[in-house]
Amino acid sequence: MLNRAGTRIEPVALIPKIGVLAVQGNFREHASMLRRLGAEAVEVRKPQELEELDGLVIPGGESTAIGRLVRLYGLEEAISSFERPLLGTCAGMILLDRRHLGLLDLEVSRNAYGRQVASFEADLELAGDAEPLRGVFIRAPRVERMGPEADVMAELDGEPVLLREGRIIVAAFHPELTGDTRVHERFLDLVREAAQPPVRDGGPVEGVSGEPGGSAAAERGGLHVRA
Ligand code: GLN
Repeated sequence: MLNRAGTRIEPVALIPKIGVLAVQGNFREHASMLRRLGAEAVEVRKPQELEELDGLVIPGGESTAIGRLVRLYGLEEAISSFERPLLGTCAGMILLDRRHLGLLDLEVSRNAYGRQVASFEADLELAGDAEPLRGVFIRAPRVERMGPEADVMAELDGEPVLLREGRIIVAAFHPELTGDTRVHERFLDLVREAAQPPVRDGGPVEGVSGEPGGSAAAERGGLHVRA
């Protein structure tokens, strides 16, 4: 995109619009952290509210309640067909696994670290960062099986607790409950990456399978531009 002076504006400069599923759980904390990082955060309760989003967060809370409300509000299909980056934390991680919405090649077991009294905090080693990341675990899910595409970003006692699979990041803990913004920052990096038009043969793709004008590519590439 060019501005009036003809200088190229990178989509990174635009403000990403991130939806936070707001049916139950810690959606307010996620929204305020995203706002602190300069994103526009909106609460999502209706399927049509997913249309204009650059990314979506499914917060922690109670996965059974969130799952029920997602079905009740008719959000299941909209979330399943959402193609942009997703961040799922705790209950959100459960909802994205194979046994639930099935958007991740991952199987988790609920409350696997014990009951409420067994909730705890731990310092995690975050891949690519020297500074440890404080993980708040509240009746956290445990990864039982993961597919070959999963990239482990942090472990606890040798078990993955922060993972990325393609455009999806999931955390077994609650990054929205500390002052550390690094998980959300990585998610926003993914959002910006996903917004770049696809590059092939050293140049931007003009159209999809020869389609003139490349409207589909243009729709997918670039953050949603809002007036
Ligand atoms: N144990 C909860 C569940 O199964 C998840 C806990 C959380 O999100 N903090 O839904």
